[in-house]
Amino acid sequence: MDKVLRCECGFEVHADEETELVARVRRHALEAHGMRFSPHEVLRVAFHAELDGGTWQQGLGAEMHEDA
Ligand SMILES: [Zn+2]
Repeated sequence: MDKVLRCECGFEVHADEETELVARVRRHALEAHGMRFSPHEVLRVAFHAELDGGTWQQGLGAEMHEDA
């Protein structure tokens, strides 16, 4: 199953498996944006982004909003 997660900068992460997606998102977030995510955080953010059809940054915002 092809998984896609979009970034605000226009970068799209494609992966066949969840573990691969997580690894690529973590690398991109760190290299391009200086943001560090744990694998668990990436999965939660990806889940929200998938629901909303948004970027992983929007997923991150949804996650933070829920915790508040
Ligand atoms: Zn990016």
